[in-house]
Order: sequence, then structure tokens, then C-alpha cells
Amino acid sequence: MKIGVIGGGQLGRMLALAGTPLGMEFAFLDPAEDACAAALGDHLCAGYADESALRQLADGVDLVTFEFESVPAETVAFLSNFVPVYPSAEALRVARDRWFEKSLFRELGIPTPEFADIQSQADLDAAVATIGLPAVLKTRTLGYDGKGQKVLRTPEDVTGTFAELGGVPCLLEGFVPFTGEVSLVAVRARGGETRFYPLAHNVHESGILKLSVASSAHPLQALAEDYLGRVMDKLDYVGVLAFEFFEVDGGLKANEIAPRVHNSGHWTIEGAECSQFENHLRAIAGLPLGSTAKVGESAMVNFIGQVPSIEDVIAVEGCHLHHYGKAFKPGRKVGHATLRCADEASLRNAIAQVQGLVQG
Ligand code: AMP
Repeated sequence: MKIGVIGGGQLGRMLALAGTPLGMEFAFLDPAEDACAAALGDHLCAGYADESALRQLADGVDLVTFEFESVPAETVAFLSNFVPVYPSAEALRVARDRWFEKSLFRELGIPTPEFADIQSQADLDAAVATIGLPAVLKTRTLGYDGKGQKVLRTPEDVTGTFAELGGVPCLLEGFVPFTGEVSLVAVRARGGETRFYPLAHNVHESGILKLSVASSAHPLQALAEDYLGRVMDKLDYVGVLAFEFFEVDGGLKANEIAPRVHNSGHWTIEGAECSQFENHLRAIAGLPLGSTAKVGESAMVNFIGQVPSIEDVIAVEGCHLHHYGKAFKPGRKVGHATLRCADEASLRNAIAQVQGLVQG
């Protein structure tokens, strides 16, 4: 079976690394000449709106998936005429736009911060008067890793901020005084069977994920599964979906969903029976799902900007390095380490060692 992937970054690369042992082949559509997934399959180096390249991709593969949610809706609509695309165009439409996403949470009775659609500075002034400060202004689409958003703390922060974010449609959200951030990664098969990984506890810095620790018997696991199950069933979702939550007042508030394999699920490569990457492929290919059970105690440390000395990283007991083969650049995710240990104390020790290498 040959899988077409829209996007050829590290998520596409890790999909191919998981699918190759299943006998799958891959083709990536990515306009970047140095797309890091290209080493693992065919590379169609063309824009996402290039219809002849899309046609070529569709003709050469059995089905198509994507590794980022900012894929233009027209690209998926066009491809869907020729080849099955999973997750669906509808899932992508909702997940790529914060207004549709938050409106879905509200419709499904999933708690989420107060929010308002912002089309102008006047809308922003009015929404701040209702929601209050602090609040967070985010572009409705194309935001990632903390880009396209600004925390508003004082009335001065509000002045002229709509233009500062590019004058594009935005969402204003109430600021959540969270005690922690967790995410749930799940996989849903074509027939509706759904499996959930353990919740991951996430630590961000400047909006970028730094650390994910897979939890054991988290008290909010069942609640998170209920919320994610509602979203997946509503969208008749196929593949892996990630749901990011704020932990607040002993409960959960929905932040956002990602209709794809997710950075907070990278620990599953060595830390779960079947990784999020393999399970995504199994789901979209109509194959039986794999176990989402945790193996040992596991965590993931992101390498941002550069990968520390390979020798030092792999010398840490329980450490597995994933180097994405990308050019080093400040703020860019260029690799990660999965840490898998027999007990929590060893895991904490391994995390500290790897974080020490990042800082050093
Ligand atoms: P996002 O791109 O929406 O996931 O936001 C990136 C990060 O900014 C989140 O992981 C939080 O750490 C922080 N953040 C986003 N929205 C809010 C909010 N409404 N209240 C407090 N912190 C937020």
C-alpha cells in the first residue's frame, strides 16, 4: 500500500518510519526542497495548490493523509475527487480554524475558555469589555508553536493589537489560570473503534512544547476520553487526533484539537505498545488498531534549535534519540528524545540529564 502525505516534515518522516515495516510506501507533497521526510519516500516538490502535482500524487497512491492542519481546504477537496483522504475534509475544516473548533466544543458541552470572534479592532474592544483581562488574542488559522497569538494584560496591550496580528480574523479567549496542561492522543478506526493513550502532562516555553510526560492512572483520564470521544464521534473521525486541555479547578478546559499525529504523542514510539504513528496508519489503511498501553515510564524532551551531542544524548540510560535531519535554526523543532525507564525515579533522573544537555 502506498500512502500520500501532504507535508514532508518530521511528522511525515516518523509516519514513514512507522509504516515501512508494515510494507507501506510513501510519497510526500511539500514545496520545500529540503523536506526532511523526502529521504523516506517519493518527494513531489510543489505547492499545495498545484493541481497537476496533486493529480500526480493522487494517481500514485492508495490514500492520502496530512501532517499539518493548515492544508488549504481546496487541496483536500480536490484530492478527494480521486483518492480517499483521511482524516476527512470536515475534520480539517473544523480543526484548522479556532472559531469552528471552539464552537464545536461548545455545541458538544465540552468546557472551554470564553471566546469571541474578532474581525476588527472595534470587535476586540467590545470583546475585552465582556471577557475582561487578561485574555489571549489568537489568529483563527495558521497559528502554531505560540505564533499568531498575544496575551493581553492591560488596556494598553489592547490598543492597535488587531492590526499587530496582521488584521486577519482572530479569536479572543479568556486567560485560563491553569495548574497544568495535558493532552490526550487517541486513534479511531474506519468502523468507529477508538483507543486512547494515557494523558500526557505537557510543559511549554514561549508557546513551544518542551517536555511531555506520559501519566499513570491520571484522575482526569476518563473525563478527557469522554470529551475526545464526543469530538471523534461527531466528526466520524478516522486516524489519530490530539486534544490539548488546561487543568483548572480539578477539571479540564478544552484548548485545541490537532487532526493528526501530535508532538505530545512522540513518547509513544518507544513508550507504548503501538506508536501514534503506526496506529494512525493502521486506522487510515483499514487495518486492526494496535494497543495504546504504556510500556514502562515514559517522557519526551524536545530539541529546539539544535540537537545536543548525539553521543551524550544516547549515553543517558533509557534514552532514544530521534534526529529529524533538519537544518538547525532557533525556535525550530529539530529532534526529540524519548525516555523510557522502569520506574518514575529513574525517569525523573533521565529527564534531568537530557534537559541538562539541552541547557549545556
Ligand atoms: P495554543 O497555540 O492555543 O495551543 O497556545 C500555546 C500555549 O499558550 C498553550 O499551550 C498555553 O500554554 C498558552 N495559552 C494558550 N491559550 C491560553 C489561554 N486561553 N489561557 C492561558 N494560556 C493560554
